[in-house]
Amino acid sequence: MCYAIPGKIEKIEKNTVTVDYFGEKRKALNELTEINVGDYIYAQGGFVVSKVSSSEAESILALWKETFFHLQEVDLRLSRLNLGDNNADKRLLEILDKASQSKELGRDELLYLLELKDPAGLELFFKTANFLRQKYHKNSCCVHGIIEISNYCLRACRYCGISSHNKELQRYRMTKKEILESAQVAVQDYGFKSLVLQSGEDPGYSADELADIIKEIKERFPALIFVSFGEIGIEGLQKLYKAGARGLLMRFESSNPRIYEEVHPGQKLESRLIHLQQAYKMGYMIITGGLIGMPGQTSRDILNDIFLAKELHAEMFSFGPFIPHPNTPFAVLPSAQVEEVIKVLAVARVIDNAQAKILVTTALETLSREAAKKGLLAGANSLMLNVTPLAYRKFYSIYPNRAHQSEDIAVQIEATISLLRSLGRAPTDLETI
Ligand code: SAH
Repeated sequence: MCYAIPGKIEKIEKNTVTVDYFGEKRKALNELTEINVGDYIYAQGGFVVSKVSSSEAESILALWKETFFHLQEVDLRLSRLNLGDNNADKRLLEILDKASQSKELGRDELLYLLELKDPAGLELFFKTANFLRQKYHKNSCCVHGIIEISNYCLRACRYCGISSHNKELQRYRMTKKEILESAQVAVQDYGFKSLVLQSGEDPGYSADELADIIKEIKERFPALIFVSFGEIGIEGLQKLYKAGARGLLMRFESSNPRIYEEVHPGQKLESRLIHLQQAYKMGYMIITGGLIGMPGQTSRDILNDIFLAKELHAEMFSFGPFIPHPNTPFAVLPSAQVEEVIKVLAVARVIDNAQAKILVTTALETLSREAAKKGLLAGANSLMLNVTPLAYRKFYSIYPNRAHQSEDIAVQIEATISLLRSLGRAPTDLETI
């Protein structure tokens, strides 16, 4: 979004460019044809997204210069870790000490963290995850925009408010023109560099139609495009990649096939995993994860979920709480607790401290206004804002009263920028080299 810093190309080697941000060097993949050393660009998620004119880049950089170093200082201060000199449980201290040195933890140690309840212990654990986030990812934070293009769905997932069993929901399907307009608003008016297009599994769009929309967005409003249309088939994924999509957001929801099959009648976990594996092979960046709080789910299941996300080469982990929807078979089940989800984010950071970005999901923000801050201070470094037109947003009702459901994009951006600034986070999400 507008919270983005242009970088200067220092070196080009085949399709990899080295980009300079106030002296820090980062790498990104380039698919633009006309790019030279000395040009300014915006990059996101490891990809060069667009070129920026020198005059525009230099004026933005002048505004950022002082802020950039100030943010680094704030982040460094907030992520300091002191494991000595406190009364925490000895076993916890041993585990956190090991984690803080990036030593691999055993399953029993990870389970110990996932099952931790004591508030003082949790605080120390979250601080350790935040320390690891800073150590490997510095203060970078990425912000994606999501456009929910249709709430039609042919699946009957038992927890989901837009699944086919919800007969009371008003359905919508955005036209190509509406999708392009939303992309234009997000990219041109608000400066988003990365967009997720999401829908239910909607047979109302063919893969060719979706590919055509993606191609036009890429041509007219350059952004990194993630797709999240469910199981559209391997050929469908290929078509969308060819059209310019570079990311797939698809949760496997639960790594336990028994739970998966119980909550997704008529569906197989294997089929979901094949999509994720094939997409990775095609070159897609993967965002995946699961739902926390499914009936019968144990800490062991959740730990397996985190390992599965890593095994699937997740560029970004997306773990969020289950929230009951009144018009679903799961209406009477309890929501997952905020703390339980933050623990998952923190364990994910401990398991994969160097590679993955970790998302604070809208569902978590729905459970608590403070959740985004808490998550970002417990290992997370990524957010998603809703840029679906307001007229449609309330109908993408996967669970009720979603955070940002009726907030204008400008309002969400303002709140996000103020949160990120207070935490010392900067918008370059590329890895430092
Ligand atoms: N059709 C796409 C998008 C599904 S909706 C796909 O299959 O991937 C996006 C996500 O919403 C799902 O992956 C699911 O994890 C989440 N979701 C659905 N119902 C929910 C609920 N009641 N509480 C929390 N998250 C929910």
